[in-house]
Amino acid sequence: MIMNIGTKSVLFGALHAIVLAIPLLAAVIRFFYPQYSSCEKCGLTWNLCKSKSVKTTERDGTFATCDKCWEQSSLSEIKKYYTKVYKMQENSLRFTEYSMKHTLEHLLNCVELEYARTNSR
Ligand SMILES: [Zn+2]
Repeated sequence: MIMNIGTKSVLFGALHAIVLAIPLLAAVIRFFYPQYSSCEKCGLTWNLCKSKSVKTTERDGTFATCDKCWEQSSLSEIKKYYTKVYKMQENSLRFTEYSMKHTLEHLLNCVELEYARTNSR
């Protein structure tokens, strides 16, 4: 089957609405794609949705939700997801020689600015 970009995005939009209504389905999808991490809100793996990246420096960015969840969530909700991802990343570096490049406060400031830029309707 040949799909153009428009068809694909309609299909992903439908899938997104379905997994939000049936979180168990997202869990099943994650089971089949253990190599991918997923959106903090809808639970779709990154091979099935587009991540919404927030820049923390000119070159670096981080993401916690897909572009659809970013559009459809309140700022306080979004900040919760980014805080969770930041703490997970921080934790995973705990016993390594690496450390986070920025503070949680900096990240949440970047999230706030990006949210104001994209969701001010
Ligand atoms: Zn999502």
